[in-house]
Amino acid sequence: MNKTRDYEELKPKIVLGVAAHPDDLDFSSSATMAKFASEGAKVYYLLLTDGSKGSDDRSISSTDLIAIRHEEQRLALKVLGGQEVTFLDYPDAYLEVTMELKKQIAAEIRKRKPDVVVTMDPTLVYSIERGFINHSDHRAAGQATIDAVFPIARDYLTFPELYEQGLEPHKVKTLLLTNFDNPTYFIDVSQTMDKKFAALKEHASQIKDMSMVQERFTTMAKKLGEQAGYTYAEGFVRLDLPL
Ligand SMILES: [Zn+2]
Repeated sequence: MNKTRDYEELKPKIVLGVAAHPDDLDFSSSATMAKFASEGAKVYYLLLTDGSKGSDDRSISSTDLIAIRHEEQRLALKVLGGQEVTFLDYPDAYLEVTMELKKQIAAEIRKRKPDVVVTMDPTLVYSIERGFINHSDHRAAGQATIDAVFPIARDYLTFPELYEQGLEPHKVKTLLLTNFDNPTYFIDVSQTMDKKFAALKEHASQIKDMSMVQERFTTMAKKLGEQAGYTYAEGFVRLDLPL
C-alpha cells in the first residue's frame, strides 16, 4: 500500500469525533485531530455522556463536575484547532445503545456532514495485555455511532422527522475506530504530539500526573510509529465506505 496516497485519499475537510466522555477523544486521537485541523479540516466533537462520575474527590458535586468537564473539553478542542463541542449529557456510566441515541448521533452527522467520523471500536471488550475492561459507555458510544453512520444518517426514510427538520441524508466516507490493542491503520502525528499533550493538560480534573501520561502516550505513539515507519503515530481501524 502506498502510504502517502492512502493518507491523501483520507485527508478530510470535515471531521466528527464521537465519544462517551470528555477526554476520550483527546487520549485516543487528539494528535490526529490536531493534524487534520492544521491541514484545514473543521473538527467537531460530539460527547454523549456528561462525565459526571469521573472523580473520586468527594468534595465535588456531580453538577460541578459536569460543568468543569464541559469546559475542559471545550478548551482542549480549542487547543487542537477544532471548532465546537456538542454534549448530549446522558448520565455517565449509564449509556445504552438505543434508537434514540442513534438518531441523535445521526442528526449530528447530518448537521456537520463529516467525511471522516472518529469513534471507539466497540468490539474491544477487554485487554488481557493491559489488564483492562473497556468501559461499557465506550462500547455503547462506538456501536451507536457505527449504526448512525450506516444506515441512519444515509437513508432519508429512517427517522423522516430528521429531513423534515432540514437534516438531509449524509454519507460518511471513512470511519476511523480507535483501538489501542489492534490498530491496522497508522497516522503520522510526529508534528502534533505537542498539541495532544497541550489538549490533555486541559483535562486537569482527570489527570493527576501529567508527566506520567506524557511518558505513557509518547511510548505508545513511538511503538505505533515503528509499525508504520513514522516517529510517532496514532493507530486506528480504518473503514472506507462506498459513496
Ligand atoms: Zn471514557
